[in-house]
Order: sequence, then C-alpha cells, then structure tokens
Amino acid sequence: MTNRLARYIGDGRVEIVEEPMPVCPPGGLLVQTEACGLCSGELMSWYMDQKLPHVLGHEVAGIVRESQDERFPVGSRVFPHHHAPCMICELCRRGRYVHCPKWKRTKLRPGGMAEWFSVDAENLSDTHITDDLRAIDAALIEPLACVMKSVRLAQIEPGDRIAVIGLGVMGLMHLAAAAAHQPIGYDFNEARRTWANTQGFRAAAPEDAQPADVVFVCPGSQAAFDFALTLIQPGGAVVLFAPLGPGEHLAVPQSTYFKELRILHSYSAGPPDTAQAIAAIRKGELRAEQVISEFIPLADLPSAYGEMKAGRILKPMVIF
Ligand SMILES: [Zn+2]
Ligand SMILES: [Zn+2]
Repeated sequence: MTNRLARYIGDGRVEIVEEPMPVCPPGGLLVQTEACGLCSGELMSWYMDQKLPHVLGHEVAGIVRESQDERFPVGSRVFPHHHAPCMICELCRRGRYVHCPKWKRTKLRPGGMAEWFSVDAENLSDTHITDDLRAIDAALIEPLACVMKSVRLAQIEPGDRIAVIGLGVMGLMHLAAAAAHQPIGYDFNEARRTWANTQGFRAAAPEDAQPADVVFVCPGSQAAFDFALTLIQPGGAVVLFAPLGPGEHLAVPQSTYFKELRILHSYSAGPPDTAQAIAAIRKGELRAEQVISEFIPLADLPSAYGEMKAGRILKPMVIF
C-alpha cells in the first residue's frame, strides 16, 4: 500500500506523488485523512521555497486507524494541530506557545495533504476528538484558531467599531470571529465582497470605508497597512495578521505616535486558541461552505493551487 500526497516542488508548483505508508509512531496515531484545506500561507513562494521539498497541508481532519494513546481510540475523528508546545518552558508558561522550541520542531508526517499521516506523541497535547463535527468543519480549526488569537490580541472593548481589510478566507474568518461586534470587511475585489455578503457577512468597498477602533489587516502589504491607518481612530489597534515579504520593512508614520495607536502582530496560534476555535465551530459560528469555494479530489490540487494563488478562487479543500 502506498500513500498519495501533494508536494510543493518550488516555483509555485505542486505535484501528486506516491510514497510509502507512514507508520504509527510510538505513543502516537496513524490517521486516514478525510479533509484538508489549502492554507493561504502555503501560497507565499518566498516562505515555501525555503522549506523544500514540502508536503502541503495542516488544516486537516481524519479518522484514527492505529492508536498508541487510549485518549484517541481507533475510529474516532481527530483534528491534530501540526505544531504543539511543551506547555512547561518559560515561553509556554507565559502563553507564548508559538515561540516554544518544541512547537517549532513538531509536525505531522508527511503532512495533511496526504491520504495517510502520522501524529507524534508530542503533538497529542493539541490534538482533539471532533466526532461531533463534520470533517470539513473540523479542518477549519487550525486557521480559525489563528484568527481567534488575532481577535484576542486586539482586546476589543464594548462599543469598538471593527474593520477587516481583505476578504480572502482569513478576512472572512475574522468577520465570523468578531461577529458580536458587527465588523465590516473591505476589499477592492467586487467578487469577494459579493461572496462575503452572500455568506451573511457585512462587506463594503474601500471607498465607502468608515472609521474604526480596531482594524485587522489580512494581506501582508504596506498598502493594506496604509489603508488601515486611514480608518483607525485615536487609541485604536491595528493588527497585522500576515507578514510582509522577506527583507521588507513596514513603514510606520509618526502620526501613529500622536494617535497612540497599538500596532500588533499575530502569528499562528497555540492550544487555548485551538480550544476557542473548536468551541466556535461547535456553536455553528463558522461553516466550511462560508469560506471554502471548491471541494476537490487530491488530483485537482495542483491546478487549484495556481487558481488560489492567482486569486481566481477563494479556497479549495481536498476531500479524500
Ligand atoms: Zn494554515
Ligand atoms: Zn514550551
């Protein structure tokens, strides 16, 4: 038996290959994949080209087929986070999980865009049984956790007006995660605004933008940050959800000082964010159909990768 998987081979290209089956690691799990979303972070060539060769996929849900941990019985559906912190080091004790050395070291093998993958024992501290969720919703947990963290860092107060810049998937998830505060999402792309409105979110064109006390900036670009500064009110927070390119420097005008703005960065997520994302999905605050535009077989991923990178589709999810 072999394991079909999607590998990023550089230069924006993906190929489907067959490899030997992974084995159940000591104290870990062997999982048969059900669904895996393509992450927007996996489209950044400069980021991906330094990881070559790289098996795609970490927004994943599957069924446990072999288990060496009784908390995760054979037959149960799981969401495993691809990075799990040690929970005991100084950084973990201070809640800075994504900077824990163990967090960086851990990963799924070979990756989520594969028919089968294994989960090491050390990843089980952020692995969850999701029998009550559809696989396509459980596969949203990782990206939604990143958004939960972003929203938490912003420390939204009652009465704050919320803006979200960029209506790609992460922008839509911010609208879902901050729904209690009636956020407005902005995008130059009319098709994206239409999609957002159709899915029950509030979207507007940038020329109709309104003042905001918290702005989430989803695209990693100076232009998106500059646009945020045109909306933000004194004492407000601007949360940068994506990095600029390597070697780029964010230009921060001096006016941010006199406005007493909080400029924040949010990178990935840790176990408390995962737990919050699972709770939100359980409550029906986000469904896969709201943010996934194509549900595809693995064979279609190489072309869908190019389509998402070009901005022609919102986000594909592979159904195994
Ligand atoms: Zn991701
Ligand atoms: Zn740690």
